[in-house]
Amino acid sequence: MVHESSPGDPDVIVIGAGPGGLAVAACLQQNGVRALVVDRAPHVGHTWRGHYDRLRLHTPRELSGLPGLPIPRRFGRWVARDDVVRYLEMYAAHHRLDLRLGVGVDRLDREGSRWRVHLADGTVLSAAHVVLATGYNNTPVAPDWPGLPDFTGEVVHASAYRTGAVYAGRDVLVVGAGNTGAEIAVDLVEQGAARVRLAIRTTPHILRRSTLGWPAQGTGILIRHLPPALVDRVAAVLEKVETPDLSEQGLARPDTGLYAQALRGRIPIQDVGIVDAIRSGHVEVVAAVTGMEGADVTLGDGTRIRPEVVVVATGYERGLEPLLGHLGVLAEDGRPSVHGARTHPAAPGLWFTGFTNPISGMFRELAIDARRIARAIARQGT
Ligand SMILES: Cc1cc2nc3c(=O)[nH]c(=O)nc-3n(C[C@H](O)[C@H](O)[C@H](O)COP(=O)(O)OP(=O)(O)OC[C@H]3O[C@@H](n4cnc5c(N)ncnc54)[C@H](O)[C@@H]3O)c2cc1C
Repeated sequence: MVHESSPGDPDVIVIGAGPGGLAVAACLQQNGVRALVVDRAPHVGHTWRGHYDRLRLHTPRELSGLPGLPIPRRFGRWVARDDVVRYLEMYAAHHRLDLRLGVGVDRLDREGSRWRVHLADGTVLSAAHVVLATGYNNTPVAPDWPGLPDFTGEVVHASAYRTGAVYAGRDVLVVGAGNTGAEIAVDLVEQGAARVRLAIRTTPHILRRSTLGWPAQGTGILIRHLPPALVDRVAAVLEKVETPDLSEQGLARPDTGLYAQALRGRIPIQDVGIVDAIRSGHVEVVAAVTGMEGADVTLGDGTRIRPEVVVVATGYERGLEPLLGHLGVLAEDGRPSVHGARTHPAAPGLWFTGFTNPISGMFRELAIDARRIARAIARQGT
């Protein structure tokens, strides 16, 4: 049965009330298009509410605002987690966005020229356009280390980590050296953990968050359209100047280029203390985890260690398969094969934002995508 549009239907359903979804909804509204934002959480900015306590945006306030409402100056240059949440609440209120919170979307289906959006409470919504803004960091990836189920220590995923205060006096291994793993390691040291080790599989690139007031994100914006090989050469010089050699502490300089890594989703670490913590020996670098045996963790170089707590900071999946795996629009890595103002020929009217990990800053890219998607939808009509 073809579902025709009825007067109460929104023109567009936006799934996800994080910065990406809110920005698209605001831009649609500015283009005279009615958008309904649906989120499984009972409030906007759910992902940010769940981040660890010490987190701040590492992109500066002035480069992180969403369309139609800058981040207030009073939130400072590096905006704290709670202020990011406050900003997202202000943003939704300022644009008077139409929100349907506390109910998840389970599945999308195409019917005629419209999309049917199946909500977890059994309701089915219909719209000509649907925007997926469910987040790059949707579902924590559980490690599949042999022996993990019988490990006698405590294991916590970074998504559930709030503060190192609860690990004071304990021996902690952090696994994964992205921005999250590096910052959690620093937090643990500052909050009095007895010992902190950081297990690294792929040597990360490390940059200062800002140099003489110039943010690393600014460099990312300037260089992102240059050929990757050229960016890698420039970045290698920058890193040598900015980041001390940590090879004596077990962290050699990476042998793959910064942009080459970023294109595979590994953006450089913005240093908020990890370099000093490694240099001073407060964070010890160890090889990648290969498995667990009882109370022991085995490492890639054959050693065994016995941490009391393992913090898993090895990343997230996009989690799109259950929603739309059947539509043939996902690439092998689970990301949508189109993004921003482009739609897949098999799924007209289905748009995606927030599924890249750009070196130019995600909030900024979400803002750019939001304007482009809204213009494209307004042009196509609903
Ligand atoms: C630790 C950390 C620090 C970061 N720091 C920065 C930074 O400094 N600067 C920067 O530019 N970027 C940063 N990012 C990257 C990025 O900006 C954020 O992850 C941002 O929250 C992404 O916004 P989003 O709207 O795409 O996704 P999210 O904020 O993750 O929002 C997705 C929303 O979708 C909802 N949802 C998911 N699935 C469903 C479903 N099936 N049905 C209904 N609702 C659903 C979720 O509840 C959530 O509210 C950081 C990321 C992390 C993890």
